[in-house]
Amino acid sequence: MKIIYDPVKFSLSAVDTAGAEFRLNPAPVWQRPVKKPADRYRLEIANACDLKCRYCVVHMNRVVKGGKLMSRETARTIVSQYNVETGGKGTLIMIGGEPLLNWEVVKDIAATASGQKMIFTNSLKMTPEKSAYLRDHGVLILTSLDGFTPEHNRARFGDDKEGNFETIKVNIRRMVGEGCRVGVACVLHHSNATEAVDIASFFREELGVVSMSFAYPHFTRENSPENDFRIEQYSEAVKGLFAFSKRRKVYLDQTGMALRFLFGGEPVYDGCKICTSQRTFYPDGTPTLCTKLDTVPGYSLAGFVDSLPLVNPECESCIARGACGGGCPWDAWVAPNAKGFDRRICSYNPAIINHLLEDIEQEAAQAGDINALKTRLDRIYKPLMTPQWTQG
Ligand code: SF4
Ligand code: SF4
Repeated sequence: MKIIYDPVKFSLSAVDTAGAEFRLNPAPVWQRPVKKPADRYRLEIANACDLKCRYCVVHMNRVVKGGKLMSRETARTIVSQYNVETGGKGTLIMIGGEPLLNWEVVKDIAATASGQKMIFTNSLKMTPEKSAYLRDHGVLILTSLDGFTPEHNRARFGDDKEGNFETIKVNIRRMVGEGCRVGVACVLHHSNATEAVDIASFFREELGVVSMSFAYPHFTRENSPENDFRIEQYSEAVKGLFAFSKRRKVYLDQTGMALRFLFGGEPVYDGCKICTSQRTFYPDGTPTLCTKLDTVPGYSLAGFVDSLPLVNPECESCIARGACGGGCPWDAWVAPNAKGFDRRICSYNPAIINHLLEDIEQEAAQAGDINALKTRLDRIYKPLMTPQWTQG
């Protein structure tokens, strides 16, 4: 069987040796979203952190507005608003800085917010009591770690005289063992990208984590070596990670999203949800689209939204148009390409979509007919499209 992908209609099809064509994904029902209520709230619980990562978009972008720690009263007001606005179907994200520096407020939010709840944490101060509380209140724990050596984590811990790497490693392993839902977010950069697959293997085999993200660094306003990290190196790393995720059955966020699009048929309108449905709140409760963009005097998101790939004629012939979403508006503001997007995405997105299509093509070549092909594709790719929390 052969695979055909049409980037204009977003159709993924298979053609058999007799020339019969079979569609492998549903036709999209996509239309440009009208303005809608927010369904995703990000609460900056703490504009403070016990680390100083040199690619951190908070520390390195002079985000100072809006207080240090969110008060319980402020959090309660925002959570009430969120519960009403989203009717139990939203997503509430606790983020920082480091939210665990404001644990009493995290507890309060975990107990009172409806819908899906997530915390982004470095896990340095994650005690057994805290992780058990988060688990029992259905909070998804997304923790950051950049590899399996202090050197991989130099951008996070420096010389690591305090032993932060060891502490966090032990905490993650323990949380997984206790039945918490844990995903690891790793930022790839000069110090770890060549060992990305070994790092993924460490996350899975040593820490027991089966959902992971390997992002490239956001640009930071302050000078950081990670600002110069080559996107081609990142693309190659993600290709290697995808092979690992297939082999070891782990969810990799970067390819999981792309596969959901290819097999689900629905194109991605916005890569960053501030374009439609996300709101962020400073510790003092002030609402904003994005704290980073708030540092840009007079910034307006409208121009970026009006040029998103699905409505942008310049993106029409791009193989990645349905999966792209236009990337991060902040990165696009710092270092735009000619289309006004983050200068890195027009290299990365097509490289990954082409790679996934080649992979699907290779699998298709081994199937004798359409039924065998569908069974094979389901078996191989479905487990890679949804985050998992326990090893199968
Ligand atoms: S990768 Fe670039 S050209 Fe392709 S859809 Fe995205 S922004 Fe447009
Ligand atoms: S613009 Fe969106 S993706 Fe970029 S830093 Fe802000 S919230 Fe994150």
